[in-house]
Amino acid sequence: MLPPTPVALPPAIAKAMPPFPAGMVWLVGAGPGDPGLVTLQAAWALSQADAVFFDALVNADVLRLARGDVELNFVGKRAGCPSPKQAEITARLVAAARTGRRVVRLKGGDPYVFGRGAEEAQGLVAAGTPFRVSPGVTAGIGGLAAAGIPVTHRDVNQAVTFITAHDASGGLSARLDWGALAAGSPVLVVYMGFRLIREIAGKLIAAGRSEDEPAAVVAQATTPRQQVVRTTLGRLAAGADVAGVEPPALIVVGGVVALAPVLGMAAATLEPAE
Ligand code: SAH
Repeated sequence: MLPPTPVALPPAIAKAMPPFPAGMVWLVGAGPGDPGLVTLQAAWALSQADAVFFDALVNADVLRLARGDVELNFVGKRAGCPSPKQAEITARLVAAARTGRRVVRLKGGDPYVFGRGAEEAQGLVAAGTPFRVSPGVTAGIGGLAAAGIPVTHRDVNQAVTFITAHDASGGLSARLDWGALAAGSPVLVVYMGFRLIREIAGKLIAAGRSEDEPAAVVAQATTPRQQVVRTTLGRLAAGADVAGVEPPALIVVGGVVALAPVLGMAAATLEPAE
């Protein structure tokens, strides 16, 4: 018998939900912030979880999909404190699963997009812990859509590139080939780049992108505190400073940003149904 679920699913959909046996870990994407962007699979997994491990990007309201007696474990970075080491998180997931609990590892956005979900999954495989991944809406697609920026438009770009600006050292990644990115990627979406916004804009301009190209910063996307700064590549850092942008934030560079005045307004005028 499954525990009662707060999500009343039509039988045809409930039948399609994967089983969540005791001793398994689900790596679940929580989406970019708006609880309405959580998937049915995420709600399904949370409603059955005995233990949930979540990080800072997860909207606390999403945790309400879990049972009242669920064990909640925060494993993100708190201001001033170092985040738990990846190996430690994986070890805790494995240990929780070995006691026969159903474990949800809840991560912001999609677990496999710059979220170290793949590293955790490798750790689970190495430990022989059964796991499943449940994708989520990633900030660099869904978050931008909420800001009126489509990541592709047939007349604008035939490719889009997702970038994480920093590597394990925390500095601008030396493994990025800015010349290739500038020449080959009409639209660039940068995760974890806000602190390095000046350097990133500088690198792209030095590699041949125009200072006048449309660019934007989208912060706290899909939440009530969403902030969108639309500007040009040359003014990107100054514009974000003036607006006092609060992370988490994405940087987006390319012609699709110019569609935001029309599409952003249309998105904002759609009121939720009563
Ligand atoms: N797995 C996540 C990304 C984790 S990396 C995903 O798929 O979305 C963390 C980075 O994601 C942040 O530094 C920021 O660049 C971006 N991010 C996550 N949520 C965001 C949001 N609501 N608004 C803007 N950027 C966000």
